[in-house]
Amino acid sequence: MLAEAIDDISPAVRANAACNDLQGSLTGVFFSEELQDIAAAKAICATCPVMLECLEGAIERHEPWGVWGGQMFLNGKILATKRRRGRPPKQPRPEDQLPDIPVPLHLQGHLRSA
Ligand code: SF4
Repeated sequence: MLAEAIDDISPAVRANAACNDLQGSLTGVFFSEELQDIAAAKAICATCPVMLECLEGAIERHEPWGVWGGQMFLNGKILATKRRRGRPPKQPRPEDQLPDIPVPLHLQGHLRSA
């Protein structure tokens, strides 16, 4: 999906991307504002053999948004967290829990808080 749509993604990432279903059917999941979609996208990334390369490439390209390399992007930075819109619930919702995929040490300078 993502790898199909972006020309300057490396051929290795494009060929091995877990999100590449050759039909672009996952694009909406990877570029959604909904926490459940973001969680699903991150879960796919967690299985991806080119996650690190994808993350490094997204940082280099200053991706404006979406999930790349297991991380959420906004204006070229990695978002550490994301909350549901509106008031936070009194009890945390399990569906709002995002998979925790650590940012590699050498890329943590690209983290920003929400
Ligand atoms: S890390 Fe995620 S966004 Fe990147 S190629 Fe793999 S599945 Fe796609």
